[in-house]
Amino acid sequence: MAEEYDLVILGGGTGGYVAAIRASQLGLKTALVEKGKLGGTCLHKGCIPSKALLRSAEVYAQTKNSEEFGVLSSDVSVNFGKVQERKTKIVDQLHKGVQHLMKQGKIDIYEGLGRILGPSIFSPMPGTISVEMNNGEDNAMLVPKNVIVATGSRPRTLPGLEIGGNVMTSDEALAMEEIPKSIIIVGGGVIGIEWASMLSDFGSDVTVIEYADRIIPTEDKEISKEMQRLMKKKGVKIVTSAKVLPETLKQGDVVSISAEVKGEQKEFTAAKVLVSVGRQANVEGIGLENTDIQVEKGYIATNEFFQTKESHIYAIGDVIGGLQLAHVASHEGIVAVEHIAGENPHPIDYDLVSKCIYSAPEAASVGITEDQAKEKGFKVKTGKFSFKAIGKALVFGESDGFVKIVADEETNDILGVHMIGPHVTDMISEAGLAKVLDATPWEVAHTIHPHPSLSEAMGEAALAVDGKAIHG
Ligand SMILES: Cc1cc2nc3c(=O)[nH]c(=O)nc-3n(C[C@H](O)[C@H](O)[C@H](O)COP(=O)(O)OP(=O)(O)OC[C@H]3O[C@@H](n4cnc5c(N)ncnc54)[C@H](O)[C@@H]3O)c2cc1C
Repeated sequence: MAEEYDLVILGGGTGGYVAAIRASQLGLKTALVEKGKLGGTCLHKGCIPSKALLRSAEVYAQTKNSEEFGVLSSDVSVNFGKVQERKTKIVDQLHKGVQHLMKQGKIDIYEGLGRILGPSIFSPMPGTISVEMNNGEDNAMLVPKNVIVATGSRPRTLPGLEIGGNVMTSDEALAMEEIPKSIIIVGGGVIGIEWASMLSDFGSDVTVIEYADRIIPTEDKEISKEMQRLMKKKGVKIVTSAKVLPETLKQGDVVSISAEVKGEQKEFTAAKVLVSVGRQANVEGIGLENTDIQVEKGYIATNEFFQTKESHIYAIGDVIGGLQLAHVASHEGIVAVEHIAGENPHPIDYDLVSKCIYSAPEAASVGITEDQAKEKGFKVKTGKFSFKAIGKALVFGESDGFVKIVADEETNDILGVHMIGPHVTDMISEAGLAKVLDATPWEVAHTIHPHPSLSEAMGEAALAVDGKAIHG
């Protein structure tokens, strides 16, 4: 039997389920189709479980160094089973929360694999969704006025580098039962660096192999440099400008793989290899061939309101590429739904999106880097302030890192804010708000920051833009 809806969402990850809640708030009769678990990658294989493991690693590393705080501890060790249990408990709790929100919003959930059909007896337009139910019941037929494709992404691998045995992606790594003695991480981007930091804090011998000439290459150069210094300080070996050669992979009790590093072939050996070279959009097997929807460079192409070439079929989140982040997916979902409901939403300005790295130390940024600003022709002035001169950072025992503000000399606009240090993933929102409100560094500096607080580094960096920092 066919069921009619105002909106059917394909995929119940952060993008899909948030879109469903907004649709329900706007009075749209909504169905959500999910083949796995509500919450998607972020909740089950991404943001939340990885941050739970990072927190355990941080607590372990801090407890080992507790003497510095005058707290004596002995025989500190990790029970990794308990670490994983804690992670699972957090994920389960949030999963229940999402299920509850779906019930509260009276959103119909179809547990199964959804596919878009072309014009059919149900509708002259493409967009009817056929759902192959997980419980083996007959296919459900959903006939919507609008569709949002939010099928997300999966780990990418290097051609020829098979996943299996001791070679993993972040999906398998999250389920590890013990901490590997040693690990090679292929890819020094955000996910690779988070894993490097976590496993090193847990006691693994970590080597990161990165193709670019610096780790986290999309961040400001000074942030990359500081992150590299601080990763090395905790014992992580970092090899840059290195091209991994998949054909050299040898698996046995240990794994070895070679890379071409500045013209020379070098072999690396470890207990495990983690491949973290980006994410691939889930565009296959969802019926796109039954529509005029275009896929460009592996991602679904959309306009600024997330409409595909079929104007009643939208696409959001990791499946459209761009910034593959949970908060971006959910905002795209909200904009798409508001557009469907005729609410006239503002298109997203991606320069206003905060990006975070949850390693120890953390890094966070909003806006453009100093190099990007110069490439765009801005006359740039910068202000930088170190956490070494921030009382609260010293109290915390975490005074590495800095806040850097990139501003336009002519207009005084803040072009980008880049941070590395303690709790900067929470501090970046002040910079985000400053950019949304088009604040100048002067206005940020005159937001009187409480003392002692880590946020003083933001106020001082804003003063430093015009050479007026008080403590620097
Ligand atoms: C290790 C790791 C750490 C991360 N950490 C962060 C972080 O700290 N902060 C952050 O912002 N982002 C983080 N991310 C990225 C974040 O997880 C993604 O950007 C986010 O999940 C994208 O949401 P989405 O809704 O587009 O897709 P997804 O979350 O991937 O959800 C897509 C859903 O669609 C379902 N689906 C796919 N095809 C079908 C189909 N045909 N029928 C039915 N269902 C289907 C899938 O089962 C899945 O549940 C991390 C990712 C990883 C891998």
